[in-house]
Amino acid sequence: MSTATAPPQAHAIGCSHCEEDAPVPTGARIRGWVTAVAAVLVVLACALSYFAVYPAWVNALFVIAAVVGCVFPAQRALQGLRRRTLDINALMVVAVTGAVAIGEFEEAAMVVSLFAAAQWLEAQSLDRARQAIGQLLDAAPVEVLIRDAGGERRVGLDAVPIGALMVVRPGERLALDGLVQGGRSDVNQAPITGESLPVEKGAGDEIFAGTINGHGALVVAVTRRRADTTLARIVRLVETAQAQRAPVQQFIDRFAAWYTPTVVLLAALVATLPVLVAGQPFDVWLYRALVLLVVACPCALVISTPVSVVSALAGAARQGVLVKGGAHLERLATVRVVAFDKTGTLTTGTFSLEAVIPLAAATADEVIRAAAAVEAHSEHPIAVAIVADAMAGGAPLAPASDVRALPGLGVEGVVAGASIVCGTPRLFNQRGWMTPVLADLATSVTAKGLSPVLVARAGVAMGVLGLRDRPKAEAAQVVADLRRHEGVRVAMITGDHDAPARAMASELNVEILKSQQLPQDKVAAVQSLRREYGAVAMVGDGVNDAPALAASDVGIAMGAMGSAVAIEAADVALMSDDLSKLRYALRLSRATRNNIRVNVALSIVLKVAFLALAAAGVATLWMAVLADTGASALVVANAVRLRKFQ
Ligand code: ADP
Ligand code: MG
Repeated sequence: MSTATAPPQAHAIGCSHCEEDAPVPTGARIRGWVTAVAAVLVVLACALSYFAVYPAWVNALFVIAAVVGCVFPAQRALQGLRRRTLDINALMVVAVTGAVAIGEFEEAAMVVSLFAAAQWLEAQSLDRARQAIGQLLDAAPVEVLIRDAGGERRVGLDAVPIGALMVVRPGERLALDGLVQGGRSDVNQAPITGESLPVEKGAGDEIFAGTINGHGALVVAVTRRRADTTLARIVRLVETAQAQRAPVQQFIDRFAAWYTPTVVLLAALVATLPVLVAGQPFDVWLYRALVLLVVACPCALVISTPVSVVSALAGAARQGVLVKGGAHLERLATVRVVAFDKTGTLTTGTFSLEAVIPLAAATADEVIRAAAAVEAHSEHPIAVAIVADAMAGGAPLAPASDVRALPGLGVEGVVAGASIVCGTPRLFNQRGWMTPVLADLATSVTAKGLSPVLVARAGVAMGVLGLRDRPKAEAAQVVADLRRHEGVRVAMITGDHDAPARAMASELNVEILKSQQLPQDKVAAVQSLRREYGAVAMVGDGVNDAPALAASDVGIAMGAMGSAVAIEAADVALMSDDLSKLRYALRLSRATRNNIRVNVALSIVLKVAFLALAAAGVATLWMAVLADTGASALVVANAVRLRKFQ
């Protein structure tokens, strides 16, 4: 009877239909048939008794139906007993055997077939919620039009090699990931990112399976096989996430561990005490004890959390929000502070070079070209802007060697035999290269709200560059909504200089600012936010913010489309660059929490009500089973609404 040794995968009270084990399709089909046979027998028996023909057959049919219907519950009950758990199946078998023993044949048959039907229904609804995300994959075409030396032909997806050229006609859905080689078109990425606006794609752009081609025809070189596409990865991820258990669920498992033995003990007392103490009739009290056993199955309670979580995760994936498990969703609902990385998260990440101040010995052009030569080897958004500006003149850049990134500080390298360093005032202070003149220049740049980049050749300052970053169009609105409607504090954590960071923070109405943070400082910044305000969600671009994402309660990566690293690093990945999905994720997490609370309350209230009725001797066995089925159906119906949550 002890449930202490149950493996973690099994519910202590494992209604077989609530179990997380992957369903065995053939087993399920046989089960369906057996259920049908039992149901037909019951209907037949009812008809015979109604028309009062072959009365002798009626009870025989009921008993046969009960036995047939009990085959699977009995099998499951035995499996459970072997794991030393007493589950609903065991309760069922005991109750049905007892009912037959006291001559309640009709009751026994009704209970068995109702129970089987309920199990079947619930398995269906849970499966359907779980498969909602898998349907994304099914929606992709099974064949593609390949163009090669032999012309164009249709090829099955699995036979398409990497590098093959596929022709995508207007309106077609992409079947594989690839790089556009020819043609231009607007592509609807909503099935993956949830973004409503189509995106322009031309030669050199990445394009993803599951997205829908717009008006142009495209020629695309395949970059990933069917099983490795971004879409396939998303589906796998969501499926694994759905199989994980949320903390609420673990609580319910622990609850069930002491609940089952208690109920069994209680039933034993109900069956024996009145008989022994008050001389009451045994069959009446045995029957009441049996009803109690059946009523006691907390099926609705056990499925209440998984169906809500599974539905929410599937719905989120359709909006381009990947949540890596119920636990993260639950934690998101408790978040008190949303901390944003600045560059590329709150801002577009496309800087423009707006100020160039050379020092005495150099010209503006020399400063830009020296900086660009080393920045050409950096992927930082600032580097991209400097290089773009230098290349605009048309002349090629000088080659640089020994280039080294100084994370959060700048970059250094050797150009034409001289060491070139570009970076923050802090870096120049560290190296002892700061002069009063240089400091004044840097201040004049930051005073305009520009991010300063100081440039030195061979340890001597050449000049100062000033770059501007613009907030994303929706940033101010999202910050305002988060503060006003979601009741969270909004913080900005950035490696940028204090002055431009402050300007951006006040433009966007961000309350808390932590600037000039080196990548390793960002972890400490997150921890201090948590100490001060509570749970922190850190929103970043996933790669360079990985430590801060990991240190936060919920790490959220933006623009994860096409970036496997970002998807791996975060707890929540937003496929698009659209900040408003963040608010959706927050609202969904809270809706899910409320949904689970309603479900748990619903199942417990119904359970308690029926336990009382059973104890009072008002509830019959089949009413008990029906009540349980009803509660489960209500819970499922409530949970499934989360799939459509906007
Ligand atoms: P953020 O927190 O805004 O993403 P980073 O940590 O990437 O910023 O960088 C912090 C600061 O370091 C930048 O604002 C910039 O001043 C400087 N920096 C980093 N990389 C480079 C680079 N390649 N060239 C010039 N400056 C850089
Ligand atoms: Mg960044």
